[in-house]
Amino acid sequence: MLWSLLKILVFVAIIGLLAMGAGFLMESSGGVQITVAGTEYTLGPLQSAIALGVLVFAVWLFFKLLTLLVATLKFLNGDETALSRYFDRSREKRGYQALADGLMALASGEGRVAMTKANKAEKLLNKPELTNLLVAQAAEMTGDTKKASETYKKLVANNSTRFVGVRGIMKQKLSEGDDETALKLAEKALAIKPRHEETQDVLLNLQTRAQDWAGARSTLNSKLKAGYLPRDVFKRRDAVLALSEAKDILDETASVEQQEHAIEANRLSPDLVPAAAMAARAYIEKGKPRAAAKILKKAWEAQPHPDLAHAFAEAVPDETPEQRIKRFTALTRIHPDNMETRLILAELNIVAEDFPEARRALGDVVEKQGDARAYTLMAAIERGEGASDAVVQGWLAKALNAPRGPQWVCDNCHDIQAEWAPICQNCGSFDTLSWQTPQTPEIASVTGVHMLPLIVGALEDQSEPEAVEEAEEPEDTATEDVIEVHAEPATTEEVRQN
Ligand SMILES: [Zn+2]
Repeated sequence: MLWSLLKILVFVAIIGLLAMGAGFLMESSGGVQITVAGTEYTLGPLQSAIALGVLVFAVWLFFKLLTLLVATLKFLNGDETALSRYFDRSREKRGYQALADGLMALASGEGRVAMTKANKAEKLLNKPELTNLLVAQAAEMTGDTKKASETYKKLVANNSTRFVGVRGIMKQKLSEGDDETALKLAEKALAIKPRHEETQDVLLNLQTRAQDWAGARSTLNSKLKAGYLPRDVFKRRDAVLALSEAKDILDETASVEQQEHAIEANRLSPDLVPAAAMAARAYIEKGKPRAAAKILKKAWEAQPHPDLAHAFAEAVPDETPEQRIKRFTALTRIHPDNMETRLILAELNIVAEDFPEARRALGDVVEKQGDARAYTLMAAIERGEGASDAVVQGWLAKALNAPRGPQWVCDNCHDIQAEWAPICQNCGSFDTLSWQTPQTPEIASVTGVHMLPLIVGALEDQSEPEAVEEAEEPEDTATEDVIEVHAEPATTEEVRQN
């Protein structure tokens, strides 16, 4: 405050003095008299002011030339950078201008211009950590991967730009499809910058693709610690990884570890169906069927699923069909109207040979959302109730042509997969499989339509019951449907073999 006041006062004083000087010059009639080499010059007031200006410029030029002279003398004395230092200032200015132009060219998508400017800036500035970045980017833009890779290697050599270099090479390896090297580079990059989110994601993706579940879990953990992941998302993904870890242990001696992983996965995410089924089986093996039932009930609450029902059945393997139906009420009363619940109930009743009850359990499922499984069960019920072969075959033919019902579908690419897996086999995304009815009709059913006349024709000829199988053999996709039919309860099998 005081300082600025002082500055203003000094400014006012200078202006005042200048005005006074100007006034004095205007009033003085004689002007300034200068004697040079015996000759006397008399300058008018304005001329004096101009002469002063010229004098100031001459002094500035003199000092400028003097420094150049000193630099030249030093250069002659052996100081080789003395002259270049003298010109460095303007050089630096042009260098930064080239760098700025290069960045601008890069931003406007002119890779070649950016490259030229980068080269110019490199010559003028001699600051490789700055210009190499620009060169690498420009090379990437023009598609000169060789130049880009060379430049990234230069960046790796410098401490301050090592991360950028490693990341650049990592991206190149990724686009080349060399996942193994990319993974090592991602690890290296993360060691330099442990909280770098993008690298964490890349590493996680590569680790899951390489099925390095333990490594992926540790990366996931560092994502949580860095605050990039909500805790519930972390829990779900960690569960998926723990489950994958359990699934991968095939060694018989490691079954205890496998069980622990499955139980942990279920604890982390109780509604993850494959984890619940696997954890339940682990408890059954440990001789704890109650704990298994508890897990399965909880998962069934979230989503009824055939795997859960199968694991539930395994808990007491040697019960009678009637006992099993009774025990299953613990499960089936949770979502009584769910399609899966009704199909399971029908299946259980068919095994118990209580066909009217099975039909009642199915209810309007067949009319409303009939799929291959429901129609196959209907065939079994008709067969059990003593309907004619034509009726039974009619249901089976319908099953062949029907959609397959809910399956593991990738939320990302809508690919249908036979078994749950942590990674989509089609698009490689992580934890995207969910149990749902596919939106697009399956290709298999198209083949089914073509096969129908053949099958029905063969069925009419009762003397050759094996003809069905023979007729289907040439078509791979159709055989899949047959497998589906065979996979249904034993009664279906009896129907076919009749
Ligand atoms: Zn997918």
